[in-house]
Amino acid sequence: MTSPLALLGGEPVVTAAGPHFSWPPIDDATRARVTTQLESAVSIPSRSGIVADLEDGLQEYFGVRHAITTSSGTAALHAMYAAARVDAGDEVIVPAWTFHATASPLFHLRAVPVLCETSPDGNIDPACAEELITPRTRALMATHLWGRPADTHALAAVAGAHGVSLLEDGSHAHGASVHGRKIGTFGLASAFSLNGPKPLSGGEGGFVLTDDDDTYYRVLTFAHYNKRCRSEIPKSHPLARYAVTGSGLKLRIHPLAAALAFDQLHRLDGYLAGRAEIARFLADHLAGVPGLEVMPVPEGVIASWYGLTLTYHPERLGGLSIERFHQALAAEGAVEFDRPGSTRPLHELPLYQHPGSLFPGHPRHHRQYRAGSFPVAEHAHRHTIKLPVWHREQDLALAEQYVRAAAKVSDHHQELL
Ligand SMILES: *Cc1c(COP(=O)(O)O)cnc(C)c1O
Repeated sequence: MTSPLALLGGEPVVTAAGPHFSWPPIDDATRARVTTQLESAVSIPSRSGIVADLEDGLQEYFGVRHAITTSSGTAALHAMYAAARVDAGDEVIVPAWTFHATASPLFHLRAVPVLCETSPDGNIDPACAEELITPRTRALMATHLWGRPADTHALAAVAGAHGVSLLEDGSHAHGASVHGRKIGTFGLASAFSLNGPKPLSGGEGGFVLTDDDDTYYRVLTFAHYNKRCRSEIPKSHPLARYAVTGSGLKLRIHPLAAALAFDQLHRLDGYLAGRAEIARFLADHLAGVPGLEVMPVPEGVIASWYGLTLTYHPERLGGLSIERFHQALAAEGAVEFDRPGSTRPLHELPLYQHPGSLFPGHPRHHRQYRAGSFPVAEHAHRHTIKLPVWHREQDLALAEQYVRAAAKVSDHHQELL
């Protein structure tokens, strides 16, 4: 037995001063790149300069024909849905558990997000998705929660069999892959966030990927009126005449954010390799802690390790509540152990319960959801404790302290009952 629990007056395991995790990593080269950009251009209305560099870099990294940057991941999702011809009254099947922005832009298109049960890992369950397909279904949406790829092959098969588009929200999963194929390349299009903590970060920003020319022109029309539409949409295309106004929205990335993201893009594979090492260490050691379970990653699947998720089993610790377990971890100084807050089952959110108050024209075939509608997703969310995954070798010492904190709380669980 170790020393008494910090929550009960003992010494904490983790003594390093916080924060223990910060993102994105910034060094002198990053600073130089952003400062250089500051002195060259802070507004780029065409596909040129750092915006072109970043989009070219993304196209090369993902192996796709088109990458279109946006002001945020939410904007990328909005533009992607519009470009995928999601129209008023259409249904889009989305995972019941994701960050709400995966689906919320659908309300602005007067389309209906149809929530779908997930697998225990939190990713959309392809068999459940198939059951939800109706003549109104336009698309099937996959998030790759915490950077663990969804079952992309099964989802592509379901989408293909029913003639609906597969779309992806890759915001947790930049660089993750399934049998060598990168997340974001499995369907008609994908949207990614470049927000602060995401595996690839520009601080703020996002992008859409697609191989389809028409979808590319539609993203431009939706999000990049005037210059980009005028120079990138062929004169013969039916959308070309709308170039000056587009759809009326301008959702451009800031050049300084693009410079930061471009700097990070060159380091992404290094970050991912480092995270994989530390994730393996954490998984190996936390798997031995009673009360915690680490879900294995299937053969051939490479995660981005945006987060390492642990399933908490109260029944293995005399019924100790996850709240109390988590509180004891924090008291041990392991403050990065986190319970997902805003990334929660969507039917618990007022927007998804009563969209009509904010969107009076919302189609009436909105389904009614209640607690218990998605037992697997709800159970997984309620029992998840997650940890950001460090990427540097020198972070192993801290990872090791986090493991010891978890083992200590588990060891002493009886004192918390
Ligand atoms: C962060 C995130 C978004 C939204 O991206 P922003 O850049 O913050 O607008 C959408 N979906 C998922 C899964 C996210 O994690």
